[in-house]
Amino acid sequence: MTETTHANRRAQLTAERERLNDELTTLGIDRNSYDEGFADSGQVTAERGEVDALVGSLRETLVDIDAALDKLDAGTYGQCESCGQDIAEARLEAMPAARLCMACASKRR
Ligand SMILES: [Zn+2]
Repeated sequence: MTETTHANRRAQLTAERERLNDELTTLGIDRNSYDEGFADSGQVTAERGEVDALVGSLRETLVDIDAALDKLDAGTYGQCESCGQDIAEARLEAMPAARLCMACASKRR
């Protein structure tokens, strides 16, 4: 992978991390407003479950992004964590924080 691609990937990952952090902040604010006014509503409880699930998946994505940024620093970015092969460029383009190559990712399903 070229230096330029590395720099682009880092910028992409950093931007994505900021976006997710903003989203988490927004969801956090929503959650506080649930607590104040609607604590006894069953519907709100269901919505909170959805928000919790969303927050959980956003946090997982953030962990992946941090790991990808660490790997950029370590020089191991773009290698599959399972088989050690290079992850296809097209896959990294679509999922810059991908930890696994296409073959390993499909095996895990
Ligand atoms: Zn693999």
